[in-house]
Amino acid sequence: MNGYKKSFKFLIKSILDFILPNKCLLCSNFSDNLVCENCLHAVDFKLELVDLESPYFEAVYSLTEYKNHIKTILKHIKFNGYKSLSEVLSAKIMAVSNLLSLDINVVTAIPIHKSRLKKRGFNQVEVLFAPLLTNTKPCLKRTKNTPPLFNLAKEQREKILCEAFEVNPETEIKDKNILLLDDICTSGSTLNEAARILKNHGANKLYALTLCYVKSHAK
Ligand SMILES: [Zn+2]
Repeated sequence: MNGYKKSFKFLIKSILDFILPNKCLLCSNFSDNLVCENCLHAVDFKLELVDLESPYFEAVYSLTEYKNHIKTILKHIKFNGYKSLSEVLSAKIMAVSNLLSLDINVVTAIPIHKSRLKKRGFNQVEVLFAPLLTNTKPCLKRTKNTPPLFNLAKEQREKILCEAFEVNPETEIKDKNILLLDDICTSGSTLNEAARILKNHGANKLYALTLCYVKSHAK
């Protein structure tokens, strides 16, 4: 019965896709892509230094402020399964990230917990920054499935995130200069906890690059 239902849904979707033109998820104008060129151009990508209080990082960079279109796009990627939107952003991310000239040995993404990975099917950070991730194995594993931290106070975030990561024993950390990647920098609690673990395992210089930042933390 479920099989029939799925086939029926697929059939209806195919018919609707054929009859109705594709629309941009943001402005509803006609677009061949999920997000039209105009909406994509409206996102202001530039390399910025984030003013993050951290004893671990040499510098934390971000590419755009978490607002308007990028906020909506990120929500579609994370909660509505639009993986291909991350791929659309990848080219933009690369164009700006190339401006970074750092002495880096390892580039690695903040991991998501395996239960979230199972549900979403992909780690959005890895897809967004795919061209930068030349190392095959991630340096960190997420051992705790943390709830969304966006509305929590700094102390609560830190408590929840404590021991949320562990180092992947198959990777080399000691004396390496590492660039940590994430999708969003709010208070920096996630980056700081990941950095703390890496430093404990002998990492040398640490840098971070995130797709977006929440304004109050920018210089
Ligand atoms: Zn649009």
